[in-house]
Amino acid sequence: MSFPKIEGYVVTEKLGTGSYSTVYKGYTKVGARTVVAVKCVDKARVKHSGSAVDNLVTEIRLLKTLTHPHIVQMREFTWDDKNIYIIMEYCCGGDLSKYIHRYGRVPEKQVLYFLQQLASALKFLREKGVVHMDLKPHNLLLHKGSDGKYILKVADFGFATILSAESRLRMVRGSPLYMAPEMLQGEYGASVDLWSVGVIMYECLFGKAPYSSSTLKELIDKIQNRTPIVLPPNSSISAGCQDLLTRLLQHDPDERISYEEFFRHAYLDLEHMPSKENYDKAVTLIKQAVELDSAGCLEEAFGAYCASLRYLVPVVHCESDAMRRQALRAKLTRYMERAEEIKQLLRSPATPPAVGTVAPPPRRQYNCCGKEEGGNSYDFGTSGVVETPASAACACAHGSAGGCACDGAPAEKTPSDPRPGRAKETKDKASRSPVRSRLKKLFGIQGVPYLDTDSVAEDSAQTNKQKLPGEGDACRIT
Ligand code: ADP
Ligand code: MG
Repeated sequence: MSFPKIEGYVVTEKLGTGSYSTVYKGYTKVGARTVVAVKCVDKARVKHSGSAVDNLVTEIRLLKTLTHPHIVQMREFTWDDKNIYIIMEYCCGGDLSKYIHRYGRVPEKQVLYFLQQLASALKFLREKGVVHMDLKPHNLLLHKGSDGKYILKVADFGFATILSAESRLRMVRGSPLYMAPEMLQGEYGASVDLWSVGVIMYECLFGKAPYSSSTLKELIDKIQNRTPIVLPPNSSISAGCQDLLTRLLQHDPDERISYEEFFRHAYLDLEHMPSKENYDKAVTLIKQAVELDSAGCLEEAFGAYCASLRYLVPVVHCESDAMRRQALRAKLTRYMERAEEIKQLLRSPATPPAVGTVAPPPRRQYNCCGKEEGGNSYDFGTSGVVETPASAACACAHGSAGGCACDGAPAEKTPSDPRPGRAKETKDKASRSPVRSRLKKLFGIQGVPYLDTDSVAEDSAQTNKQKLPGEGDACRIT
C-alpha cells in the first residue's frame, strides 16, 4: 500500500477512514519524531461536492481555535497538488466505537469517567457557541495519557457549526443512528448534541444504540415514529445514571435536559471529575486541612478534609491499577478517619476548648512519601498510622519503594486526637465498617453521587469479579 508523501512527515500506517477522508499515522522527520495523525482529503473527491469543501473549511477553521484537553488538537494543515492534510495529535487508543465493539459494553463507572470528559469538552464548545452535530463513538478518540490512563477526545468537526442557544437550523447532517429526532422533522437547535450524548451513553452501557436496526428504513421509521426507548431487561444501572440517560433521550427537545442542567447534573458531578486540575485542588485542600488541624482550628480543618475527599474519592474510583488504587485508598482512609474523629470531637459535649486554646501537636514536616525530615517514614495504610523503617514502600499513589519523587497527594501525618486512646478507638470502630458507609456518615448521603454507585471500598472486589476492559492490555483503560 502506498502512503501519501507529506513534507516534514513520514507516514507509517493507515488508522481509519471516515466519510470523506483517510486518516494515517506518521511522525515528524526532524526533532523529537513526534507521532501524529494525518487526515488526508483527496482534492478530486471534494472538488465535486460543495458541502465536502465546506466541511473541510469548517473543520480547519474550528480546530485552529479549539484548545482543550478533551478535544483533539490540530498541529497544522498543509496541501499538495493531490491532497489536503490536517495534521493532528495522535490518539493511541483508537476510537470509542472500536472500544465498545471489542468489549461488548462498558462498565458504568467507566462510562461515567468517559462521560465527564465528553461533558467537559461540550461545556467548552458551548461557551464558544459551537455545536458538533456528529457526536458518535467513531468521532470520540481515546488517548493514553502519561499516567497510563485513557483520555477521551472529541474529533471530526466537519459538520460542526457556530450556533447560539436560540438559533435554529434546517439542514440534515450527522449519522442517523445518533441523530436527534427533530433533525428529520424540520427546525432544530443546539440540543441535538445532547441527544447524541444520550445515544452514546446508552450504547456504552448496553452494547448497542437504542435505535439499532437492520435496515436504514427501519431506523428512520423508529426515529420518525418516536419509538419509545426502553432499557434492556435486567439492566442494572444506578438511579442517577438512569435519570441522566432518560433526560438526555427525550424525543421532544423542549423536554430534553438543557445544557445548564446537564452540566450541573448530580450524577455527572462535573465539579469533582477526576482530572489533574481537581487532583491538585485535593492536594491543596489536604495541605490546608492538616495545617488547620495542627493549629487546632478543628471546624475549618473538618471542612477542608471533607472538601478534599470530594475530589479524592472519584480519583480512587477511576484508578484501575491495583497498586495505585490501594495507595490512594490508604491515604483517603486516613484523611477520612481524621475527619470522622474531628466530627466526633466537635459534636461531643467534651469538645476541646475554642480554637487556639488546645495545645496543637508538635508541627512536623513530611514529604509526599510520608517521610519526616531526617526521621522515619509513616505508612498510611488502612491499619492506621504506624512508624515504619524509612526503606518501606512509599505510600504515595505511585506505589514505588522509598525515595519516590512523586507529586502525589501529600502524606503529611495528620495530627491525632488530643484525648488519650480516642484516636485508636475511633479508628478501630471505623476500620470495621466499609469505606462507603463511613463516607456516607461523613458527608450525609444527599448529593454525593458516587456513594450511590460502586464504593471505593468495593472497587477491588468489583474489579476481581469483572475484569475491566483494557486491564492488562498494552494501552490501559483508566
Ligand atoms: P471523517 O471526517 O472522514 O469521518 P475522522 O476525523 O472522523 O474522519 O477520522 C476517521 C477515523 O480515523 C476515526 O474514526 C479514527 O478511528 C481515526 N482517527 C481520526 N483522527 C485520529 C487521531 N487524531 N488519532 C488516531 N486516530 C484517528
Ligand atoms: Mg468521522
